Amino acid sequence: MPNVFIKTYGCQMNQRDSEQVARMFTEGGYTVTNDEFEADAILVNTCSVRDQAEQKALGKMGSMVRHRQKRPHVVYGFMGCMAQSRGQELFQNVPHLDVVVGTQKYHKVFEYVDGILQNRLERRMDDLKLTYKGDHICDVEEEKDSQNTIKDHVNNTTDPTAFVSIMQGCNMKCSYCIVPDTRGRERGRPIAEIVEECKTLASRGVKEVTLLGQIVNLYGRTEFPKVDGKSPFVQLLEAVHEIEGIDRIRFTSPHPIGYRDDLVEAFTYLPKLCSHIHFPMQSGSDKILKAMRRPYKNEKFVEIIKKMKAARPDMAITTDIIVGFPGETEEDFMDTLNTVKELEFDNCFVFRYSQRRNTPAAEMLEQHTEKTKEDRNQRLLAVVNEIAQRKNHALIGTVQEVLCTGPSKNNPNTLNSRTPQNKIVILEGNPDRLVGKVFKAKITECTGFTLYGTPLID
Ligand code: SAM
Ligand code: SF4
Repeated sequence: MPNVFIKTYGCQMNQRDSEQVARMFTEGGYTVTNDEFEADAILVNTCSVRDQAEQKALGKMGSMVRHRQKRPHVVYGFMGCMAQSRGQELFQNVPHLDVVVGTQKYHKVFEYVDGILQNRLERRMDDLKLTYKGDHICDVEEEKDSQNTIKDHVNNTTDPTAFVSIMQGCNMKCSYCIVPDTRGRERGRPIAEIVEECKTLASRGVKEVTLLGQIVNLYGRTEFPKVDGKSPFVQLLEAVHEIEGIDRIRFTSPHPIGYRDDLVEAFTYLPKLCSHIHFPMQSGSDKILKAMRRPYKNEKFVEIIKKMKAARPDMAITTDIIVGFPGETEEDFMDTLNTVKELEFDNCFVFRYSQRRNTPAAEMLEQHTEKTKEDRNQRLLAVVNEIAQRKNHALIGTVQEVLCTGPSKNNPNTLNSRTPQNKIVILEGNPDRLVGKVFKAKITECTGFTLYGTPLID
């Protein structure tokens, strides 16, 4: 039985896409391995959002060429965003590469890779000195309805949480972002198909689903009508809420555009919606938001958060912020810092602005040095971390409802769980009794970002 090794960089969408690919390989008779040394096919699912992510993927692929020495038949492939944006050019950068597959063609990866592998194994029997030139496949074409192909999950997992991709693409044109280029136009899946997928997951013991989209709250706006003043996204949330066995619903990432009162209200009557949103702010300066082509002002962003906290007083908010955007003055940066202090985010991903090909911001004149970006990054992180740790410390002694997700990665003798606010709580206890269950836990300790608790369950 051949083995496939899949390395994934980037966001949850990429993780989800990799899972779909893994499922197709297992259906085709492969075993998914965590050991690249025993792999017959090596796939790297790539991210292009920042240059660093591209460099990591290129570095990893470059280092894995050594496996060919012992296993000359190994098939190498790039998938995802960098594959989409660089296409053919990757074959020049990485001479041992066999396959490049874009973001609308994940469902073809198995066919391409397995075809080459079978070919090589057959040919090898006839001629051991064979060179493998001429096997290159590059498929980065658009494909209608490709959003409907990310729908299957790996069967043999006991994970009680799952990602569900409800749409693909993005119609915004944020001036720094490569995603509209790599993922194409916004395309939603039909509600009925998403609900069917969630039902299948529930029947396998999944308790929590996270609905994924680039601007998830705009789901279906071009395909499906509003009903009773409710957006297609809220209709979808209501439909998933009906599913027996699904106890928790999350979504990521929402955007201030189209974040209307029907969605705020949904948090008052859909108790399975978790009290957490990851709500990217990008900057606290109106001038920079405008230069970023983010169509909202800081005041609007703050207003939505206030409404969300009124709808759910225990709501946790996390965010993304870019520092060192071209033209960002010290005063603009202070606007961001002050908004972070005012809103007290539960956590924040801070990114140093990275110039991306074919984006307007990359051509802007007032680019910052890496030193300025790093300096702002550190100053903002210090504030973000102080707030996050203070909030975590305040939870000591409280009782929280957690979903136990499985053994902790750092210490497999302990168990991981998450609160509705998406905070990780480490527990001790019997996995057979706790994994996959929602129960109360008393928070006993906090070190930095990690909470520790005692399960309160019979
Ligand atoms: N669609 C989501 C939104 O607009 O809210 C964000 C998706 S994007 C893949 C994830 C995050 O990467 C963004 O929120 C942004 O902070 C960051 N990002 C995107 N392009 C970037 C760039 N050129 N440099 C640094 N960070 C970037
Ligand atoms: Fe990129 Fe902006 Fe679209 Fe988010 S909304 S994926 S940041 S273009």
